[in-house]
Amino acid sequence: MNIHRAKQKTVFIDRDGTLIEEVNFLSRLEDLRFFDYTNEAIRLLKENGFLIIVVTNQSGIGREIFVESAMHAIHAQIQIELTEKLDAFYFCPHLPTDNCACRKPNLGMIEAACANFDIDLDNSWMIGDKAIDMETGFNAGIKTALVLTGYGKKAVETLNRKPDLIAENLLEAVESITNYELPITNENSFTNS
Ligand SMILES: [Mg+2]
Ligand SMILES: [Zn+2]
Repeated sequence: MNIHRAKQKTVFIDRDGTLIEEVNFLSRLEDLRFFDYTNEAIRLLKENGFLIIVVTNQSGIGREIFVESAMHAIHAQIQIELTEKLDAFYFCPHLPTDNCACRKPNLGMIEAACANFDIDLDNSWMIGDKAIDMETGFNAGIKTALVLTGYGKKAVETLNRKPDLIAENLLEAVESITNYELPITNENSFTNS
């Protein structure tokens, strides 16, 4: 017998420059920096029923700049510091020249997530700070949000297709996405600094 479970709307989030500050080849816990709004953005997504899945290219592993366990330690620390937890992390350890199926803008990480979760792609988003993040969203046929943190200001110049939304940062993107999903019941609910 089937047990019916509703498909889950999902936000796929890039890690560096989107969820946390961009640090070139982040590998040391002491270099991990959240934005001051990261926790609130994640809380708001959870409150609105989104699955939150990080998809991150980590070629520093393939380049042997750091070891995979260093990345896992950072992901564990991210979970410790967030009030609401992320549902999963997917990473690509390969080099751009490896031609793997998982490095964004390829869909390997999103396909792996879809194998592990019952994801409602029609109501899902990709949020990131680079053109490859937007291309990943386009390739997956999901909605796209570019943030202007990290490499976002550069990316906005190079995109040849417009994302569904461009936001100053992750929290503004999340506010737009959650408003996009739900009718506004209290128009004073969302105020920006
Ligand atoms: Mg990034
Ligand atoms: Zn890969």
